[in-house]
Amino acid sequence: MKTISVIGTGYVGLVTGTCLADMGNTVTCIDIDPDKIACLKRGEMPIYEPGLKELVDRNVDADRLHFTTSYAEGLAGAEFIFIAVNTPTADDKGADMRHVTAAALSIAEHLDHDAIIVTKSTMPVGSGDLVSEIISRHLAHPATRFAVVSNPEFLAQGTAVRNFQMPDRVVLGSLDRDAAQRVAELYLPLRATIMVTDLYTAEMIKYASNAFLATKISFINEMARVCERLGADIKEVAVGMGYDQRIGKFHLEAGVGFGGSCFGKDVSALSHMAAQAGLHPQMLNAVMEINNDQRRLVVDKLLAILGTLRGATVAVWGLAFKPNTDDMRDAPAIDIVNALVAQGASVRAYDPVARETARAALGDTHITYCADAYDAAADADAVIIVTHWNEFKAINPQRLRAIMRRAIVIDGRNIYQPETMMSAGFVYRGIGRAMRGLEPNGDGAAPRLAPATLARRSRAHRGAARVKPE
Ligand code: NAD
Repeated sequence: MKTISVIGTGYVGLVTGTCLADMGNTVTCIDIDPDKIACLKRGEMPIYEPGLKELVDRNVDADRLHFTTSYAEGLAGAEFIFIAVNTPTADDKGADMRHVTAAALSIAEHLDHDAIIVTKSTMPVGSGDLVSEIISRHLAHPATRFAVVSNPEFLAQGTAVRNFQMPDRVVLGSLDRDAAQRVAELYLPLRATIMVTDLYTAEMIKYASNAFLATKISFINEMARVCERLGADIKEVAVGMGYDQRIGKFHLEAGVGFGGSCFGKDVSALSHMAAQAGLHPQMLNAVMEINNDQRRLVVDKLLAILGTLRGATVAVWGLAFKPNTDDMRDAPAIDIVNALVAQGASVRAYDPVARETARAALGDTHITYCADAYDAAADADAVIIVTHWNEFKAINPQRLRAIMRRAIVIDGRNIYQPETMMSAGFVYRGIGRAMRGLEPNGDGAAPRLAPATLARRSRAHRGAARVKPE
């Protein structure tokens, strides 16, 4: 069993450190954020990630997992030093490498024994060389030998522990094949496919993978707009496409667009890298453009129904950038809430876990943070579904209809069947959904009901009107 340091105790670092400890290694997680480390030392989680707390507790109890703000303490005896610090978007839209260079400098100042530096942060192609140079130039103990191995992380928040423990692949890249082999041995217990390549290729695999996933989302969102105009249903189109193994069924969900700390920043950084290399990355730029437009779509759909948002009360269900996380970084909800407020609406928002992170991102001047989904919808003119938490899928349409001032649902994640919601008396808009029994409508047009649907709807509506709020 190995002695490992993990620098950066965020979504990636904490999961990596904890899972490596759970595999029997002794791990010390280092972070410069004293509040985060104090919180972890108290046994509390600084982030929400399903299954992580139990795993942290188990490994802390087994004395395999430790937390510190001290590099001297954290690097002591470490054979492997993982760098998992944040690489946000810089002002020029490239990757901001300040945290990586600071971590490399701190390693150089404190490393007094041979070690392998494993870069988990997503870093522009060639950054492994930069880390190497910084450490070499500033080594406090010049006799120390080290190698740098790129090991990009592919986990997704919300399923991070499972993704780490059962990865589709582990990618390792280094000029030093022996060092890469030693890192590969750390991962052997996972019985995963391990790909060993050169440093630049490993770094590029991460960017290319995220750019491809983001492209799938922007592609299906563009198809959704086409479906909406032509009367086809994007959900069924995606199912039909997904049967083709060359396409695959994942990441074909039309909605409010991607968010989070990775897709946008990585597509942007890759585009920046390509442009700096003299290329014109037109597809990457289109992916971002479509995604930015997509965030406005739900607000535009509501505006088309109401005519104006001034004075309207809008319930926003879901704030985190995806379910099962509290992460608000680049969450579509931020743009959506800001657009609603800018147009004069008041917002009643609810998210099962992201309330505090949302408050930090959005403030509370124009937003009321509510206790649950029904509380948010009470007396609202419309509900906009932004994050597809499971609990929203299980709502009772009649109960919802009865507590709202006006029955409008803008389903930014296509979690409901249009027929079900319309039968319950709602004016319903999804993203790229066929309005069966209705004539196809564009964003601006009110749906025109076919006679059979009208009859069904009015029966359902009469029934719904008798339902009292619980
Ligand atoms: P994060 O912001 O959640 O965590 C980064 C942590 O690093 C913070 O706690 C911060 O205090 C700490 N830190 C910054 N500078 C430091 C320093 N010099 N020394 C010690 N600690 C320092 O970030 P994250 O989401 O975990 O992402 C980390 C990296 O992994 C990024 O490059 C990201 O692109 C990549 N990545 C993220 C995900 C994801 O889903 N979040 C998935 C794959 C890859």
